Amino acid sequence: MELKSTIESQFRLNPLQNKALKKIGLKNIEDLLFYFPTRYGDTTDLKNIKDLKVGDKPIIYAKVKSIKTSKAYIKKVPMTEAVLEDGTGTIKAIWFSQPYIAKMLPVGSSAKFQGTINERNKQLYIANPEYKNLGKIPLATGNSLFSQEVIDSFIYPVYPESKGITSKWFYHTILKIFKSGILDKMKDPLPKTILKKYNLPSLKTALIWVHSPQKKSDAQSAAKRFAFEEIFFIQLSRAKQKKEYQSHPSFQIKKTKKHMDEFIKLFPFKPTESQMKSIQQILDDFAKDHAMSRLLEGDVGSGKTAVAASAIYAITTTAPKNQPSAKLQTAYMVPTEILAKQHFESFIQYFSHLNINIGLITSSGCRKFPSKVDPTGWTKISRAQLLKWTANGEIPILIGTHSLISKSVIFKNLAFVIIDEQHRFGLMQRQGLAQKTDIRSENKKIMPHLLSMTATPIPRTLALTIYGDLDLTLLDQMPHGRKPIITEIITPDKREKTYEKIRTELQEDRQAYVICPRIEEPDPDKATALQVKSVQAEAQRLKRDVFKEYKIGILHSKMKPAEKEKIMDDFSSGKTNILVATSVIEVGVNVPNATIIILEGAERFGLAQLHQLRGRVIRSNHQAFCYIFSETKTKKTLDRLNALKTAKDGFELAEFDLTLRGAGELTGRKQWGISDLGMEAIKNIKMVEASRHEAQKIIGGDPDLQKHPLIKQKVSHVEKFTHFE
Ligand code: ADP
Ligand code: MG
Repeated sequence: MELKSTIESQFRLNPLQNKALKKIGLKNIEDLLFYFPTRYGDTTDLKNIKDLKVGDKPIIYAKVKSIKTSKAYIKKVPMTEAVLEDGTGTIKAIWFSQPYIAKMLPVGSSAKFQGTINERNKQLYIANPEYKNLGKIPLATGNSLFSQEVIDSFIYPVYPESKGITSKWFYHTILKIFKSGILDKMKDPLPKTILKKYNLPSLKTALIWVHSPQKKSDAQSAAKRFAFEEIFFIQLSRAKQKKEYQSHPSFQIKKTKKHMDEFIKLFPFKPTESQMKSIQQILDDFAKDHAMSRLLEGDVGSGKTAVAASAIYAITTTAPKNQPSAKLQTAYMVPTEILAKQHFESFIQYFSHLNINIGLITSSGCRKFPSKVDPTGWTKISRAQLLKWTANGEIPILIGTHSLISKSVIFKNLAFVIIDEQHRFGLMQRQGLAQKTDIRSENKKIMPHLLSMTATPIPRTLALTIYGDLDLTLLDQMPHGRKPIITEIITPDKREKTYEKIRTELQEDRQAYVICPRIEEPDPDKATALQVKSVQAEAQRLKRDVFKEYKIGILHSKMKPAEKEKIMDDFSSGKTNILVATSVIEVGVNVPNATIIILEGAERFGLAQLHQLRGRVIRSNHQAFCYIFSETKTKKTLDRLNALKTAKDGFELAEFDLTLRGAGELTGRKQWGISDLGMEAIKNIKMVEASRHEAQKIIGGDPDLQKHPLIKQKVSHVEKFTHFE
């Protein structure tokens, strides 16, 4: 048996098992060894029959008092019924389609059972319980029914099951793999020094402990090791990328404060301290001899665009070496056309006094500012023309969607790349934009400075991990004068009254967004279709029953770009009063007069995500309102939603999501490619910091990992399989 031997070649599998393994994605012996239990059955689940309640999933030790198999009345499948007793009471157990059970558990035999407790006709029963024959049940002294010895020997792993394959199968198969001696052939990718320093078990020990622990604490140590390992290798890959990025020269840009102030004083508002600090950090990076790679993380509405514009100003007012009359170039990438157009417009505002060309590239067309005919406006131009000017260096600022990454887009003096709403792009796309300089040019080795911007509030530990290759700047202050959004959680009984409140705002000429709920569907296409339907239905309902006197627009991701633009224009200009939309689109849309947002089906969203949606209405100094409509009445859900009223900012909410609902609930968790175990590690700042520290130390002394072949191999694996998309 080898690690890469297929499971099929080593174990006899029936077709169902084969299918199940395929479905889970387990091919070889190594895959099995790293298929970890999600929990361990243990004494905390151990219950006396007299204490059982509906919904429990207890372990009970009991004697079979009677057992018989019959054909079930409705489904015509064999049904086995038994009565179990444990000295404290009796309970019925029922199995379907397992006629052999009566033979396995004859009357008088003792066994351990585990299953869910249901109720029928006011009688509790345990449905399809797992069982294990025990021979004799050793009774304990004290108040526990069984001796500690029995209990300890019954810590057993529980694996995620799939139709056709049981947790038990995994357990026994993995024990057989252990017996083959294969563990001795495995090399531990974690250096011994690290294992020792953090008191982590070796790979071999950890595998044994995770699959067949003697004690719960062993299982925990093993989990800790694997969690550390996962984060450590992500950190290594990020540290390596950062080092690599910084090994290239960049355009060094030095700007005085006076020069910058000339630009900043033109803003129609006073920048926040946080904005000033962020601008300064970026300028400090620009002055270094290697490329910047920085993440600007700031809540929706915190004013990231102005920071970006200031940085662009520093770039644009710098000439490349040996080309005194030329200008360094900036590429600004956003995820949607609407946003691209919006930024095109606002950069015209920011830079019109500089007398420079600004370009826009999207799949549905290109634009250039200024127009020859009207120097205060823009004009449509052909893609070929825009690309030519970009390659010539005549377009210092080019804004665009994914179209920017296309091969045909080439720059002459690309010095700065900005990726806005960066969480909407994959790593590959981000990297694609960094390598856009004409390879024939003398600048070909030069790396552009990179500024990623995001409003996704994620916990710090997670940011340190998935964005480990970026330096972090937090924009943690809202523009002056912003009134906090008044947030209310609306239960179904308060719906009507709330609509009336909203009406009074609409009468003041304010506008409202209505965001329809996220719809969970394994098939993303189906989910989108359902969501579109719900947007249309909700818009109709509001028009018919609630806001008859107002104009209602709808916006969803299935619309064509031109349609979307029209709808957004109508909303921005106030032609429509209410915009009913899906939650998936246009995160950064800026309509200052829209001061009301209704979030339907709020219980289906994470807190941080709700917060981000809410941020659309904090765009001006009008009082803004957020109504969180929830269909549930459960206290727990309402308590959770109430955090939206009390939390200071999105980061606090993200931390709250992490502790309250677990890492699995964090926005975008799937796209980061981190396992559940790894996500658990994210909860532990010490572990994240330790793994980061160790990773940086190794890369610092050995950037190409020449001296660490085992680690190198593993890191390239991580790079191949986690794209963080
Ligand atoms: P985001 O960080 O979400 O990208 P924007 O850059 O779109 O936020 O800014 C949101 C709005 O706030 C814009 O209308 C912008 O002009 C305005 N704004 C930005 N900074 C300030 C400030 N310091 N004071 C007042 N308004 C500001
Ligand atoms: Mg923005």
